[in-house]
Amino acid sequence: MKLARESQLPLHPDVQSFLAQPQKLLIGGDWRPSASGQTFVTINPATGETLAQISKGTAQDVDLAVQAARQAFECGPWSKTLPVEREAGLNKLADLILKHSEALAQLETLEMGMPISSSRVINGEASANLVRYFAGWPTKIHGEMPSPSIADRLLYLRREPIGVFGLIIPWNYPLLITVQKLAGALACGNTCVLKPASVSCLTALYLGKLVQEAGIPAGAVNIVTGPGGDVGRALSLHPGVDKISLTGSTEVGKDIISASTSNVKQTIMELGGKAPQLVFEDCDIDRAVDGLVLGGLVNNGQDCMAGCRIYVHEKIASRVVEKLIARFQDQVVGDGMRPDTQLGPVVSETRMNAILDYIESGRREGARLVLGGNRIDGELGPGYFIEPTIFADCTDQMTIVREEIFGPVVSLLTFKDEDEAIARANDTVYGLAAGVWTNNLGRAHRVAGRLQAGTIWVNCYMELDNSMGFGGYRQSGFGRELGDDQILNYTQTKGVYIATV
Ligand code: NAP
Ligand code: MG
Repeated sequence: MKLARESQLPLHPDVQSFLAQPQKLLIGGDWRPSASGQTFVTINPATGETLAQISKGTAQDVDLAVQAARQAFECGPWSKTLPVEREAGLNKLADLILKHSEALAQLETLEMGMPISSSRVINGEASANLVRYFAGWPTKIHGEMPSPSIADRLLYLRREPIGVFGLIIPWNYPLLITVQKLAGALACGNTCVLKPASVSCLTALYLGKLVQEAGIPAGAVNIVTGPGGDVGRALSLHPGVDKISLTGSTEVGKDIISASTSNVKQTIMELGGKAPQLVFEDCDIDRAVDGLVLGGLVNNGQDCMAGCRIYVHEKIASRVVEKLIARFQDQVVGDGMRPDTQLGPVVSETRMNAILDYIESGRREGARLVLGGNRIDGELGPGYFIEPTIFADCTDQMTIVREEIFGPVVSLLTFKDEDEAIARANDTVYGLAAGVWTNNLGRAHRVAGRLQAGTIWVNCYMELDNSMGFGGYRQSGFGRELGDDQILNYTQTKGVYIATV
């Protein structure tokens, strides 16, 4: 492990002025304090210092936001926008994201620790491209005309928006996941109430200003910050919300599903994961190790797709472990605001302690710690930094192999043959993603077909294309976002029967 040495970036002037203001809620086009007048703070995880004051929304604020969204959907200006106008609004928003990408990148780095080299890409081009992807849809959404078997009838299916969406966001890719849901909802003609994760509100609030500047009418997008147990729960219970899209943990997903029975709300659940990576004896080892480093450490392992359960064929296991240790040791750790940082802090003190508890359980349950395993002290001591960590000789029942750690920790296991590897990889409550490393074409397709997960990568890892539906099997959730799937999930059909005689 090396320490980042390049100097800390100066704060962008827009970031300075944004952080100087108390952050309010966006309801019906107005920025206002929460009904209770209370606030909470977000913390810079690289230093442990307070970063910003955020309004602590309540159920009453959620109610006002849902009313504003309902009004905009049913009779406000949003209900009257033409598809070409929605397209233009979203393209304008994408332009503004690019224009403000440095501020959006710095805010995310400051608030959740992502290295600036990553947040510049994710909060710049990647977020803008995602909005543009959805900007392309409004003019292409169409219904169908089935061939009737009833005489003298004309039948058609209209594809319509669903109404008011509650969009509940996690902290690990705060802006990217926000724009994925928000642009998808708007493209289909819905309105929304957005609830950012409490440790990472700033980019969503900044985006709210860009939504206004893009000319997207008041009420189409509302933002209520505040604790999940209050704001998120109120959204899930609210009779005026038609559909909830959550990206978050399986535990919170279960709560939302229970609450959504209040008005038989639809839900989309993008939940946790514990992705296996299968490294076969016939793979290109260096290429596989590149993928293992990416899958284990991208965003500090705080990724639902983290490929942290690594099954390696026993013939190549010692070579893979050796190379992986060298690559993990090479990581440059530091404050995300230093341009050379590759691994920043984890998001919060709570998460840091949870990850350290998992590491302790690995030691206790007999896994062999071959690298890392500690909080980093010294000059990084005030922040929430954890050494990149590798456990070898793990077994399937260990807690670190079964549960989502969400930190820079990978577990290595060995296998003897393909059937065994597939069965063990599938032995999990999750099913979000999986990786396969092999140079055998038949095996690549065979294994991809047999792994139980919503996304499979072969000889690559952690790539998402906006045109590919993404989501989970089993307790990794249901419903798909991105691609045509998201358009289908964010609209509904209505059958119309016309008597022609
Ligand atoms: P989380 O704790 O489940 O929180 C997600 C969101 O739900 C936050 O906005 C949270 O608000 C809110 N929330 C909390 N309790 C709630 C309740 N009772 N009712 C309604 N909303 C509630 O997840 P996280 O820690 O932010 O993110 C990490 C998790 O997300 C991991 O499990 C990860 O695998 C998953 N994830 C999945 C995907 C995917 O696409 N499948 C992508 C990224 C992350 P507060 O912040 O105020 O608590
Ligand atoms: Mg924070």
